[in-house]
Amino acid sequence: MSELLSVDGIDTYYGESHVLFDVSLSVDAGEVVALVGRNGAGKTTTLRSVMCLTPAAEGTIEMDGEEIQDLDPHDVRQRGISWVPEERRVFGGLTVAENLRLAARGGEEDRTTQIERVYERFPRLDERRDQHAGTMSGGEQQMLAIARALVGPETDLLLLDEPSEGLAPQIVEDVADIIRELNDEGVTVLLVEQNAEMALGLADRAYVIETGEVVHESPATELLNDREAMETYLGVK
Ligand code: ATP
Repeated sequence: MSELLSVDGIDTYYGESHVLFDVSLSVDAGEVVALVGRNGAGKTTTLRSVMCLTPAAEGTIEMDGEEIQDLDPHDVRQRGISWVPEERRVFGGLTVAENLRLAARGGEEDRTTQIERVYERFPRLDERRDQHAGTMSGGEQQMLAIARALVGPETDLLLLDEPSEGLAPQIVEDVADIIRELNDEGVTVLLVEQNAEMALGLADRAYVIETGEVVHESPATELLNDREAMETYLGVK
């Protein structure tokens, strides 16, 4: 498989605070890759660095063979990378349609086309166009958050930050199904999760990050079946 995303030796800071240390990882086209680790390990920061929201101070990030680490977040999106932030930051007081409209760019016609494409992909959102996002279930809100990320230029790589957070186990399964389906449709996925079992159940390969350093890389099932590693790295007994 060809490499789609390549993160090579990045160091990232928040002000003076050094958070990522020489982080390298890669995602091949068509893969689901999980990035797991404990609270505060640097998972979100890694995604923020890829999106250039908190740019890496050192190292390179390539998408499709081209360096992107110095781009603006908007230009990263133009390269086919979409990001679903933690906590499903949908606007609860706005309708589904309004949430999606905020994510669309360009002229009126363009925006409508972008949104209609997303409704085709998510008929449940189509049915709920006029519902206020805040009145939807957690799973539906997560669907909306994913849909919103997909509005706009075609998404080749989807970065998902803790999509299972705060969801009941059955709903986590529904979200996992959405991720699987998108992947089957050709979207490559980099999935950040505290819920290691969910992420590793979905992923082809996995990286573990600990206090800003990648400490483990393996096929996802290998990590899932390695009880000692699961306990050491992730506190899963
Ligand atoms: P969590 O699952 O808790 O979000 P995480 O693995 O995603 O954890 P990060 O959010 O990337 O971890 O945080 C990594 C480190 O960077 C933590 O020590 C955190 O306190 C720190 N950090 C995160 N955001 C900021 C910020 N805006 N300013 C300063 N430090 C930050």
